[in-house]
Amino acid sequence: MPSALPEKVNPWLLCRAGEMLAGTLLTERMDRLAAAVTSVADPVVVELQFERDQRGKSRVTGQCSVTVTMQCQRCLEPAAVPLLAVVCLQLVKDEADAGLLPDDVDPLFAEGDSELLLLADLIEDELLMSLPSVARHQDPVCHVPAGAEPAQVVTEADDDQNPFKVLMNLKRPRT
Ligand SMILES: [Zn+2]
Repeated sequence: MPSALPEKVNPWLLCRAGEMLAGTLLTERMDRLAAAVTSVADPVVVELQFERDQRGKSRVTGQCSVTVTMQCQRCLEPAAVPLLAVVCLQLVKDEADAGLLPDDVDPLFAEGDSELLLLADLIEDELLMSLPSVARHQDPVCHVPAGAEPAQVVTEADDDQNPFKVLMNLKRPRT
């Protein structure tokens, strides 16, 4: 069994030491996540590598995953949605540092060298960003009564049918 993770961490110290944090975290204090979904199947499985890269930047990479229940927007029944958040963060002390980051790296703010971060906050942010904007069952288990909707239903009929629009959506990160 993976072990429980510490509540608070010093990210700068962990990066200097090149530590790997792997374990589980309960979502009991993740109120924003709880508000966004119907329920959460605890715990979150977390794997985070803290390190300094070749240029001396302090990075946090890895992933966290948990299954949540959301309302299926097609049949309105609860649907299990596995969340997988890929973490790619760089420690920064202020907005100016954050502005220098490449597009695919998000800032993790920790002002002082000894600042402690609540691990649950960090993980909750990442999970929230990985939530689908529209939750749906995989087709075979969706409870829409037969005949109520065609199999290849496109609920947002307008935009999604334009192939170019679909391509554009693929290139844009989902928010
Ligand atoms: Zn459904």
